[in-house]
Amino acid sequence: MQPLLPDSFQPHQVPPNIRLAQLHEDAFKVGKHPIDSVNRCPCCNTSVEFTLLPLCCDVKELCFLGCAYPFYFYFLKVCLLIIGSVFILGGALNMLWVGLDCSSDSCVRFLGLAIINYTDL
Ligand SMILES: [Zn+2]
Repeated sequence: MQPLLPDSFQPHQVPPNIRLAQLHEDAFKVGKHPIDSVNRCPCCNTSVEFTLLPLCCDVKELCFLGCAYPFYFYFLKVCLLIIGSVFILGGALNMLWVGLDCSSDSCVRFLGLAIINYTDL
């Protein structure tokens, strides 16, 4: 088994070793780290190899980060869906209501649909 701290690693070295700092940065990037990796950070023994997750991946693929991340992104997705449906339904009803009460010169039209009625203002 590989020792956790090899003899060449000095945690309080001045000036610091930038190569080891970059290795440590790679070890803590968010992504899938293979368990059986040979390349590991000498200070924390975490794998420095990782695979980035795609932006539109399933929220279940984030389970390795803990239970809060999948729940948070699911909550965010459902909130955006609710807000989007309220905007679409509310906007469609407003356009229908304005369009029904619109004479030829009293409305502002956008793409053939009445959006503002001057007589209501
Ligand atoms: Zn480290």
